[in-house]
Amino acid sequence: MKQMFINGEWVDARSGETREIINPYNQEVVATAAEGNAEDAKRAIAAAREAFDHGEWQHTPGAERGQKVLRIAELIERDREELAKLETFDTGKTVEESRVDMDDIAGVFRYFAGIADKDGGEVIESPIPDSQSKVVREPVGVCGQITPWNYPLLQAAWKIAPALAAGNTIVMKPSEITPLTTVKVTELIEEAGVPAGVANLVLGAGATVGNELAESGDVDLISFTGGIDTGKKIMQTASGNVKKIALELGGKNPNVVFADADFETAVDQALNAAFFHAGQVCSAGSRLIIEDSIHDEFVEELTARAKRIKLGDGFKEDTQSGPLISAEHRGKVENYVEIGKEEGANLLIGGARPEDEELQNGFFYLPTIFTECTSDMRIVQEEVFGPVLTVERFETEEEAVKLANDSIYGLAGAVFTTDIDKAERAAAKMRMGTVWINDFHPYFAQAPWGGYKQSGIGRELGKPGLEEYTETKHIYRNLKPEPIHWFK
Ligand code: NAD
Repeated sequence: MKQMFINGEWVDARSGETREIINPYNQEVVATAAEGNAEDAKRAIAAAREAFDHGEWQHTPGAERGQKVLRIAELIERDREELAKLETFDTGKTVEESRVDMDDIAGVFRYFAGIADKDGGEVIESPIPDSQSKVVREPVGVCGQITPWNYPLLQAAWKIAPALAAGNTIVMKPSEITPLTTVKVTELIEEAGVPAGVANLVLGAGATVGNELAESGDVDLISFTGGIDTGKKIMQTASGNVKKIALELGGKNPNVVFADADFETAVDQALNAAFFHAGQVCSAGSRLIIEDSIHDEFVEELTARAKRIKLGDGFKEDTQSGPLISAEHRGKVENYVEIGKEEGANLLIGGARPEDEELQNGFFYLPTIFTECTSDMRIVQEEVFGPVLTVERFETEEEAVKLANDSIYGLAGAVFTTDIDKAERAAAKMRMGTVWINDFHPYFAQAPWGGYKQSGIGRELGKPGLEEYTETKHIYRNLKPEPIHWFK
């Protein structure tokens, strides 16, 4: 039974309710978890409030907090294999992908451990004689952290590590369908010696636990990663006490391929961009925008390779892609494929569940490619979050950039070309938080991550990822105090 962690104690939900956690590969129950509600969230928020207001954590030197965060990284490395297996049971992704996630996660904790004591503030040149002016950064306070199911622990790590490094107290709420690795890491946070009440974990649904975190007047910051509709709701709910908000929402990310790109690299990366983790990636390259002169040859090769993607059990070595996360989510993807067909996009491959006997109990869906797409189609504009790629054509550089930017989203995008000036020109004009040149998907702890437009607010990772969890204070000191006699 997976319990919640509140004020340093492992507890069941007050209501006694539980939830079964399902393996999306075969629908077997892999664990039972406590199903908290708003009452449990309130207890966790109260513990975090008390630990922030009256505990030592926020006043502990950054170097010491960094040591604890570093210890968490070491423990994640020690338990890498166990964590990777849990992530695969929970999400269906291949265990090799999960191992890579765990290495990235340890890297995130290491990075924030390393910069926990690096921002000692700044002395400002004051325009007032005989005065001193300094700017310091302080923790924000109690942070609610709500995470999605596609990269359960990775997304949590991007929030937990900087929040703790900066001296905040936290209440984590993983997706109710993928809580296993966040529970395990909470055990590691406890083992690392983080004081009681500093890191709390509540399990349960978004509408109850998540909503309470967004609403509570005792939460100072809400950091959310998930879908755009939920993000908008959280913005509204969070307005009650004007809490700070950090939102990492979805994407509909363009992958622009010019005719002069290295063909092999561009095909290989386009495949990876669209179909990695069955397309359930916020930065998936789900919109391929390709120069007309190579369109046919490129699509032919891409299609041939997409058909060969081996779907299966994430624990088998030859599996290249696992299932979608749930029956409900697969239904959403199927619905979008119907919409694409009705809109007149040309369904080239996929558009169905696989027929293999072995895959019938999992939520599998075939890699799907639509050609002859135009930017007014919903299949091009809306985030499908599955293995569905749309293909558009362009003739000029200007047109390519225009198509790339024709989206309410602005999370990430890529440009493939051997003309570096053209690449830089396009990268400069693309309105998104990350632009890759001749690559797709790289992200790392040192570089900021986040969205332009409706892909979100704020940045995670890098120095900005730590700054999100700090308030900025100006301290001014009069070195020659004397009356000013403004009022006689
Ligand atoms: P989701 O919005 O359904 O749920 C995300 C989290 O929010 C879950 O923990 C859920 O329980 C909670 N939640 C749901 N309703 C809530 C409410 N009313 N109040 C508070 N919390 C609530 O998203 P999902 O389906 O779990 O994840 C997929 C989405 O996440 C995709 O849109 C994807 O693009 C996005 N995502 C973005 C990034 C990024 O870095 N920008 C990374 C990963 C995933």
